[in-house]
Amino acid sequence: MATTQNHFRTCPLCEATCGLEVSHANGEIVRIRGDRRDVFSHGFICPKGSTLGKLDQDPDRLRTPLIRRNGRHEPATWDEAFSHIEKHLTPLVAEHGPNAVGLYLGNPNVHSMSGVLYLRAFVKMLRSRNVFTAATVDQMPKHVSSGYMFGHPDLIPVPDLDRTSYLLMLGANPHQSNGSLATAPDWPGRLRAISERGGRVVVIDPRRTETAKDADEHIPIRPGTDALFLAAVGQVIFEETLTDFGHLADAVDGVDDVAAALLPFSPETVEQACGISAATTRRIARELAGADGAAVYGRIGTHTTEFGTLASWLVDVLNVITGNIDSPGGAMFPRPAHEQPRARREFVVGRWATRVRQLPETRGELPVSALAEEILEPGEDRIRGLITIAGNPVLSTPDGGRLIEALGSLDFMVCLDVYLNETTRHADVILPGVTPLRRPHYDFAFYGLSVRNVANYSPPLYELEEGFLDEWETLLRLGATVTGQGSDPDIDQLDDAVFATLVGSAVADPASPVHGRSAEEIFAATNGGRGPERILDFLLRTGPYGDRYGKEPGGISLARLMESPHGVDLGPLQSRLPADLCTPSGRVQLGPAALLGDLKRLRQAMGRSGGDGMVLIGRRHVRSNNSWMHNVDVLVKGKTRCTLQINPEDAARIGVEPEGMVKVSSSAGAVVVPVEVTEDILEGVVSLPHGWGHDLEGSSLSVASERPGVNSNRLSTGAMDPMSGNAILNGIPVEVVPA
Ligand code: SF4
Repeated sequence: MATTQNHFRTCPLCEATCGLEVSHANGEIVRIRGDRRDVFSHGFICPKGSTLGKLDQDPDRLRTPLIRRNGRHEPATWDEAFSHIEKHLTPLVAEHGPNAVGLYLGNPNVHSMSGVLYLRAFVKMLRSRNVFTAATVDQMPKHVSSGYMFGHPDLIPVPDLDRTSYLLMLGANPHQSNGSLATAPDWPGRLRAISERGGRVVVIDPRRTETAKDADEHIPIRPGTDALFLAAVGQVIFEETLTDFGHLADAVDGVDDVAAALLPFSPETVEQACGISAATTRRIARELAGADGAAVYGRIGTHTTEFGTLASWLVDVLNVITGNIDSPGGAMFPRPAHEQPRARREFVVGRWATRVRQLPETRGELPVSALAEEILEPGEDRIRGLITIAGNPVLSTPDGGRLIEALGSLDFMVCLDVYLNETTRHADVILPGVTPLRRPHYDFAFYGLSVRNVANYSPPLYELEEGFLDEWETLLRLGATVTGQGSDPDIDQLDDAVFATLVGSAVADPASPVHGRSAEEIFAATNGGRGPERILDFLLRTGPYGDRYGKEPGGISLARLMESPHGVDLGPLQSRLPADLCTPSGRVQLGPAALLGDLKRLRQAMGRSGGDGMVLIGRRHVRSNNSWMHNVDVLVKGKTRCTLQINPEDAARIGVEPEGMVKVSSSAGAVVVPVEVTEDILEGVVSLPHGWGHDLEGSSLSVASERPGVNSNRLSTGAMDPMSGNAILNGIPVEVVPA
């Protein structure tokens, strides 16, 4: 009888980075539970974390490449798949140029070492400007506002949850999402601790969410008006001279400009649009300014609106003008173990634009709301081939109906994914992805957003199946194939080139701890390592806590993390400004011209009444992970979750029975869905979760197709926040009638 062994790893499924204890025997998972010794999560786990084994063992998971022949996807060898790509996709690039092939990158890429470390090289190899990601249906406004204010789109402050005494939270439901753009295992516990130590949690949301129910106060707001509310809070703070710039008093530019620009947004002028009384807004402003360590935190509900970037900016304006930015208990900047020096430079957008609507590039990508038209609209420069990596844009990006049409019209499509799903069913070739238990993990993306500085490395539990390519190998081979370097390149040589570029930049950078050292010496120190682990080791050793290749004995390296299966605690967040600001001036830019200019649009929304029509918002559930975990039976069983939440008054007005069916229509499309009548949602607002709609022919998701739900993105249009290109997914006007 095999002995049960324990394997410890960080869960890569969401942003919370929980430590897991995986008990296994004989190649089978016996149990997965929270790792009580994990330095950050201390045993916390959500229902998704315990299903990693089920994902790995899912009979629907792709285990070989598939090639579409005569309308059917058939198993193929890796060599056959890459030869097929070379035969059909490579000529498109040769004939029409690199922009003829578009790239869509889904959210799971930021949860994988291969995605974070090799996609940059892959994008460079492709040389296509038609790069789209899930960021423009999610957090792009935060990147843009951080870029303008702090000089770098990834310099994002997070609420110092464990020390704050006042948290003002908008458009976030961490009880279900487990937190986003602020990494913390057990958000519910950490929020409760704020109240228990005498602090206060205030939630602003159109729904009385699970988080709102647990908070000290819930204030309902009309969807899409967060920016107005935040502007009014700021206006009160300036008007009542409650400002305090703390240790940054001499390092903030543009204060007078912002004070003047917010003048028109008094609580009285926005109360009708927001649905929040002026007295409440004034009280919140005073509470926020008077608290000893307060943070304002806005998340997806504030970003996926027509004023997403303004709302994101105003969140941090409030953090700055109340002296809470970069201060313990306020909104602080993490310092992850892999961080590398960042140069000071101007943040710019619009280095190129989409072909059809001339929508500007941001952070090297274009708004995904424009993907369908960039394929469908005729023209020599249209996208003819598409590569998707770990994404299901048919379900997760706007106007899903039009995107289905667009994908069907492509000359050739390649997907890298674990499933034959609603998007990959359109592919000519599908290359199988790797499940979490078969790959190493270090959370590059989320340690940079973590409310405490920690580092943890997880080796793979299982080896890859015989002949299976790891995702970084697939990316390098695919890049070489598409760009005419042959379908069977020397992967190690390509990998060495990626590593050499990284090392070359570091030794040439005066700010790097290895500046001036020889690249050969660093290569030699890797002991023949390869792949993501070699890069991780380099970044850790040259990072802020690194061993600097022996110069800081006891410092962090991959070897040190491998000896620490429960992670290494690097302590609470520390103040970093103004030294680590990346603006050319080295100062916080409180009033960037682009954002002040956009306030004109917001002023026009000030007098809106909300009207008589209904508007749609989204919602999250702890058992869902956007679109891709609905094939795990234990996560989808039970009561139907894809329902339209509606207020009892609205349900009575339109004449729908509890649990009856309704047709929801927008200018983009319509869906028929069961209702869930609840007083937890504001009158005039309805809510539908995203990531459902598993009823499309040609996909192979046996569990998900039994409970398909409807695709909420059939209702979203191509409309976006003009400052960031982020899709508007909240506040969509809809009509609801009994079906
Ligand atoms: S909260 Fe997120 S990281 Fe933690 S177990 Fe659940 S899915 Fe995994």
